[in-house]
Amino acid sequence: MSDQTMTIGGEAVATGATFDVINPALGTAFATAPECSAEQLDAAFDSASKAYRDWRGDEPARRALLLKAAEALVAAAGELAPILTAEQGKPIGEAMIEVYGAAAWLQYYAALELQREVIQDDDRAFAEVVRRPLGVVAAITPWNFPLILASWKIAPALVAGNTMVLKPSPYTPLATLKLGEVLRGVLPDGVLNVVSGGDALGAWMTSHPVPRKVSFTGSVETGKKVAASAAPDLKRVTLELGGNDPAILLDDVDPATVAAEIFKGAFANNGQVCSAIKRVYVPEALYDDVVDALAEKARAAKVGDGAAEGTELGPINNRPQYERVSMLVADALSSGATAVTGGKPMEGDGYFFEPTILAGLSDGTRIVDEEQFGPALPVISYRDIDDVVDRANATHFGLSGSVWGTDTDRAAQVAERLECGTAWVNAHLALAPHQPFGGAKWSGIGVENGPWGLYGFTELQVQYRAK
Ligand code: NAD
Repeated sequence: MSDQTMTIGGEAVATGATFDVINPALGTAFATAPECSAEQLDAAFDSASKAYRDWRGDEPARRALLLKAAEALVAAAGELAPILTAEQGKPIGEAMIEVYGAAAWLQYYAALELQREVIQDDDRAFAEVVRRPLGVVAAITPWNFPLILASWKIAPALVAGNTMVLKPSPYTPLATLKLGEVLRGVLPDGVLNVVSGGDALGAWMTSHPVPRKVSFTGSVETGKKVAASAAPDLKRVTLELGGNDPAILLDDVDPATVAAEIFKGAFANNGQVCSAIKRVYVPEALYDDVVDALAEKARAAKVGDGAAEGTELGPINNRPQYERVSMLVADALSSGATAVTGGKPMEGDGYFFEPTILAGLSDGTRIVDEEQFGPALPVISYRDIDDVVDRANATHFGLSGSVWGTDTDRAAQVAERLECGTAWVNAHLALAPHQPFGGAKWSGIGVENGPWGLYGFTELQVQYRAK
C-alpha cells in the first residue's frame, strides 16, 4: 500500500501497484506512490465529465469554493511543506512559501471576473462575445514546483468552469496527492481528480478521448510529444516548457550589487527553475569583478538537506538530472572552462552538487547552449551590445531574459530586443498571479496567469440576438 492515495470522484483510491519516491537529500526511497491503472484513469476522466455538468453552471459557487480551497491549503501548509521538501529537496521555508503561493493563486482567480464583451447593439442585433469553459482538462506538472505549478492550472481552469484530472511528476507525486486529499470535501466530487504514475500515464492522458484541453508544464522534448499526441482530436494545448534565460549586464552596473541579484536569479530552487538565469553575459571590463562576486556568493551558500535548519540550497531533485548537470559541467571543464568555485558533485549521500561558477567559456559550449537546470552558472564576456543581443537570441528557447544597468531606459531598450515571453530590467524571476507567463519559440505555446491564463481554459462564443 502506498503512503498516499489518489483522488478520483472525491474518493481516496489506492492501487495494487506502487512506485518508490526518493528523498534526493538521501538518495534513497522514503515512501511509495500509487501507480494509476488505465481503468482508474478512465474513472477519473469519467468523474470529471460528470462533475462538469453542474460545476460549469454555477459561477458564484466556483468562486466561493476556490476561496475555501485556498483556506484549506493554508491550514494544511504544515503537513504539505515537509512532504514537498522530502520528495523535492527544497528548504522547508521555501516549501511553505510554495504552499502559500498556491493558495494565493486560488485567491487571485477566485476574484478575477470574466468579462462579457458587447460587440454590437444597434437596430439589427445585440451581439456579445462570451467565454465558455472547454470541459475536462488534463493537467501535467514537473518536479521543480509541484504545488505552485499545479495551482497555476487548477485555479484558472476551475474558475472558468472546467473540471480536471491532474498528474504530478513521478519524482514528486506525494505533495500533489496530498493536495488532492486536502481538497476532497472542499470541492465537489470529481471537479479535481489527482492521479499518479510514470511518464506513460501522462501519455495516456494526452491521448485520452475525454479531455478537451491539455495544460502541460515540463521539458521541450516532452512538450513536443504532448502536442503531437493532442493533435489527432484537436485538443487545445498550453505548453509551458524549458528555458535558457540570458542575463545581460550593461557596462554601468555595480558588479557586487548586481552579482547578488544574479546569484538569486540563477540559484533559486538550486537552479531548477524554468525561468532561472542560465547564462550571464558581462562586458569584458567588468568580467573578473562579476565572476569574483558571483563566486563569493556561491561559496557562501549553505548547501544541505532541505529539512535542516539554515539550508539555502538543497540537492538536485533526481539522479538523471544530477548526472546531466555533472556531465554538462565536466564537458565545459574539458573544453577549457574554469570552475572558479564548485565544479563537481559533493561527497556523501544524496544528489548534492557544489554551487558552480564557470568562467572562460563562450557560446558553443553545451552548458551555455542547453538548459542545465541545476546549480551551475556559465559567465560569458562580450564586447558589443548588438553582438550580445544576437547571441542571447541565437537559441530555440525563449522563455525569459533580463538586462541589468543603472540607466534603466537604456537597459529597457536592450531588453525589448530579447526574443522571449518576459523581458525583465534589473529583475529576474519577478512572477505574479496577474502577470502572463509563457515562452516564445520552443519555450511554449500559450501563457499562464492573469486574465490571459484564464482565457486559455475557455473558448469564445458569439451570442447573437436579432432585433
Ligand atoms: P518532463 O518533461 O520530463 O516531465 C514533465 C511531466 O510530463 C511529468 O509529469 C512527466 O511524467 C510527464 N510526461 C513525461 N512524458 C510524457 C509524455 N510522453 N506525455 C505526457 N506527459 C509526459 O519535465 P521535468 O524534467 O519534470 O521538468 C523539468 C522541465 O520543465 C525543464 O525543462 C523546465 O524548464 C520545465 N519547466 C517549465 C516551466 C514553465 O512554466 N515554462 C516551469 C517549470 C518547469
